[in-house]
Amino acid sequence: MSSRMSLPLVVHEPGAGHAPVVPFLRLSALWIQITGTWCNLECTHCINASGPDEPWLKPIAPEVARAAMREADELGVKEIYFTGGEPFLHGEILALLADALVVAPTTVLTNGTLIDEAMADRLAALARAAAYSLEIRVSLDDTDPEKNDRVRGAGAFNKAVRAIQLLHERGLLPIVTATEITSHEHAGGRGMYERFRGFLAGLGIEKPRVKILPVFALGRLSREGGRRLTEEDLEGFERGTLQCSESRVVADGGVYACPILAGLPGAKLSDGGLEASFRDAPLYHPSCVTCHETGMTCKNG
Ligand code: SF4
Repeated sequence: MSSRMSLPLVVHEPGAGHAPVVPFLRLSALWIQITGTWCNLECTHCINASGPDEPWLKPIAPEVARAAMREADELGVKEIYFTGGEPFLHGEILALLADALVVAPTTVLTNGTLIDEAMADRLAALARAAAYSLEIRVSLDDTDPEKNDRVRGAGAFNKAVRAIQLLHERGLLPIVTATEITSHEHAGGRGMYERFRGFLAGLGIEKPRVKILPVFALGRLSREGGRRLTEEDLEGFERGTLQCSESRVVADGGVYACPILAGLPGAKLSDGGLEASFRDAPLYHPSCVTCHETGMTCKNG
């Protein structure tokens, strides 16, 4: 798998011309989109329209990931993230995590459905032996199985919850990541954080960790048009607070500004080299409005 296929109809790509830009300040986070848009699930809100059939963004070869980690190490990277698609579909994910953990604290973002006892044991062993911390982020969109599986697919809830329990039993304290996709269905109830924390506490997790993300009009929720940022919007705004000022993503075809826009031609900043991507990035996409308005980051913190 080497060449990228054309964008699917569900991924609309506006032009980057005349967009405001964000300066590059430092390399804090290296993201590796290891499986491209290849996933065993097909969530209705997926920001890059991942799925099991013919990923439009291909997985990257292990040597590409290793070269990026070596370069990032030389450039002083502080954190490494593996994402996709579903990273645990990649045949070399454990070896790559081991390599990453020599360089920096490392996080893998997963739907959790492929983490069984054996995988949880391997991840725990990796974490014990590593020089840096290993974080596992497991996606779960609702504490109600029916609502979750309506978004993420039949059976996804039980498998993700099982993964959370297996990791917790081995001391890995997973971060549960949820989007606000079903939050309107809980109007009048407890807030999302409280609801998720209560749910995890009910599983016996003494120190629940929850990260909430906004929903982006991107990927399967993409639509044509949509407001875009202007210079006027950014007057008095500190652009260095946007994650694209300090993150870069290695994915098939090159290096991109941020994990949200990985694979989109307008967000591509270099054909391969990380340092070559250290330049202004255009804030050209409607998703940049969401970042600007919500202050969100894809990072753990
Ligand atoms: S989507 Fe967010 S992180 Fe990505 S380039 Fe736009 S503002 Fe930056």
